[in-house]
Amino acid sequence: MRPYIAFIRMPLLLLSVTAFLLAQPGQASASLLTKTSCCTNPQSVEATHGTAIVITDSTNQPQPSAKTAIPGKQSGIQSMTSSSGKSNKDDPSQSPMYARRMLIEDMALVTGIPWYQLAAVDQYERTRSQTHPKKYPKRDGLIAIQFSEIQWSGLFNPDQADHQPETIELFGGIGQDGDGDGKAERSNDADVLYTMARLLLDSGMSKEDFPAAVWNYYQNDRIARRINQFARIYQHFGSIDLSRHAFPVPITSQYSYRSTWGAARGWGGRRIHEGTDIFAGYGVPVRSTTYGVIEIMGWNRYGGWRVGIRDINNIYHYYAHLSGFNKQYKAGDIVQPGEVIGWVGSSGYGKPGTSGKFPPHLHYGLYRDNGYSDWSFDPYPMLKRWERAEYKARRKAK
Ligand SMILES: [Zn+2]
Repeated sequence: MRPYIAFIRMPLLLLSVTAFLLAQPGQASASLLTKTSCCTNPQSVEATHGTAIVITDSTNQPQPSAKTAIPGKQSGIQSMTSSSGKSNKDDPSQSPMYARRMLIEDMALVTGIPWYQLAAVDQYERTRSQTHPKKYPKRDGLIAIQFSEIQWSGLFNPDQADHQPETIELFGGIGQDGDGDGKAERSNDADVLYTMARLLLDSGMSKEDFPAAVWNYYQNDRIARRINQFARIYQHFGSIDLSRHAFPVPITSQYSYRSTWGAARGWGGRRIHEGTDIFAGYGVPVRSTTYGVIEIMGWNRYGGWRVGIRDINNIYHYYAHLSGFNKQYKAGDIVQPGEVIGWVGSSGYGKPGTSGKFPPHLHYGLYRDNGYSDWSFDPYPMLKRWERAEYKARRKAK
């Protein structure tokens, strides 16, 4: 019997349920709790929860201790939210990113699927909506996972907007009630996320089988690979807020660049220039601009010694013509913004080891995964933004 689940918008209830579960280590549901080691220390996660989960046994009776408040933890809430003295707008606990993380952690607690795997599926669908806004219009809400009306309500369901779990099930729809309000609504974040979690669990999901479960749902190697990469990145950093970037060379070094994306180039046939060249001396450090996973590190006849890094926005960052790599890293490793991956050089345009056919520079390219291949787009505007942000941070630090 799986536990009956209900979300109730009362922060204190979660605290008490959490305490109850912690006090009952023998209970099956308590083991779920230990799996949700996520992004922040548990205290702060609990402290500002906007949503609460009640897990009861199959008799649907609330646990007796569920209404007992925990004064000690409550004071933790106050100290955390009042110490900043800022308005809600500046309070990170009021941001959509924070609310999204809370929802995902709640669902991890309920389903036993690690938060970073749920976050990875959600993030993949978010990037897909960005790449194909017509085919996958952005979903309104914290969660980006999309189901069609037919998927949700069932192929032969006469009511395509059905939100009754019983009739949805009867017609073979997938829609589930994730927040315990008795309705399974496509517009409800908790219902959508819980429905995805059930689909993964139903296809034999366990922590080891996540790649297989993802593949079963999407039936696509490329998508399955992305989602697994995203999950690894989230797990590694313990956070879903991985938006920080760095300029690819230290701003204190001598360098210059201008917008050259799309220009014709001389070597290797009729190709446009798929990147921005940052001219700098031999040996200037080349740094990862993003949080991501190294997909490629090796020789390419155009790019010379080059590195390719995939980020959680499904963007591929390409660094070419390096004089060498940072030997600390290899393909499959995870990096963060500012970490040195290699050094500026002039390698490329020939067989392995060819160098010096042009002045030393970093060729930096950005590619978006459109589901079939990676498409180049102009990195110049982003480089400008990251460069400005670093100058600003440096001025602030002085
Ligand atoms: Zn170039």
